[in-house]
Amino acid sequence: MQVRVFDQTEEMQDLRDEIEADDEEAQEEKKEEWLETSTEYEQHIAQASKMTCLYERDMDDVLVHDAKSCTECYLERVARRMRIQVHERYLSDDDTLAKATVFELAIPEAFAAWRDATWVILRDMMRPQQVFSDKPPHLTIHEYPPFADYVEHVPKVLLASKTKSFMKTHYASTSLPVTLEKLILPSGLKYALLDTSGYFTARQIHTPSLSELVKPKLSSKSPFSSLTASLHPKSGVTGITSNEVIAWQTSVPRGMSVLEGWSFQELRIGHNLQWPRLPRELTSPVLNFANEAVSLLVRQLALQAGPKDCAGSLRRVAHWPFEDRELCNAMLTALARRVTAVSSNYRECDSVETYLTLILRLITLTTI
Ligand SMILES: [Zn+2]
Repeated sequence: MQVRVFDQTEEMQDLRDEIEADDEEAQEEKKEEWLETSTEYEQHIAQASKMTCLYERDMDDVLVHDAKSCTECYLERVARRMRIQVHERYLSDDDTLAKATVFELAIPEAFAAWRDATWVILRDMMRPQQVFSDKPPHLTIHEYPPFADYVEHVPKVLLASKTKSFMKTHYASTSLPVTLEKLILPSGLKYALLDTSGYFTARQIHTPSLSELVKPKLSSKSPFSSLTASLHPKSGVTGITSNEVIAWQTSVPRGMSVLEGWSFQELRIGHNLQWPRLPRELTSPVLNFANEAVSLLVRQLALQAGPKDCAGSLRRVAHWPFEDRELCNAMLTALARRVTAVSSNYRECDSVETYLTLILRLITLTTI
């Protein structure tokens, strides 16, 4: 995307030309510095080669090397200690990376605001767990000295390098003699998008979901509060398994019958079976639809879209029963009986709301 915008934006192309012109100017300066330093080095070496080491007789009349006063050794030492800083190219040699870098430096304010806001929603609301990078960022493009003059504003999501700039490593300077080719290094920065709170965006592999934010809450006093796995299955999970329901019978909470707990949990076993089980529960007296937990469970079941159908149908996996006329009729008949049965009871507001939700879903999702 960055590359496409770059290719269509004259200002960004001009900025790249400007950065590359500055880079070439800096390279020319480096070349002059290299010529001067190399000449100085060669002069020291040439001067030293014309000399011989200084020897003096010690107290025992033995000839010893006077390293402190030896001019030849001094000149060699000076030459050996001479160093010159390398030049790191400002932009990557890879054309795509270079264009992306320029895009990020001149990022349109509106695009940055949109991307920042989208990322904050993804990060703070839809991905409670963040994945730290095993390699922390060394610097962002906005902190890289050669780009200091081009930065206009710093967004929350920006390019950062996992690798150090050559200027911050032991390659930053080199001893002489050295060829000019070894002084001009390619950019050592390997960029990736970074959220300024410290996370690389590409590392965030958890599927974003708002599921946890819409999780229904039950009073801890409700006997159904121990069955939250059925009430609100995690994203991509079909509640609990049949075996788990059977195992649960050994720990039925007080205030709930085994049959009631069983029917409650069975309603959420398997996306394919949720809707077909509803007519059975609507015609059975086991579940009390006026109960807050039962209402929540059925409304969650009715309103949650669930996984998409991989076979290519526009319907979700759980919604196949809406193509089955008999099943839809059975549901409508059961709902009609329920509504008629509670029509004179003003205490059945919750159950009527649940029945209405089911009827509306039937009207919306069925085509027969
Ligand atoms: Zn010497």
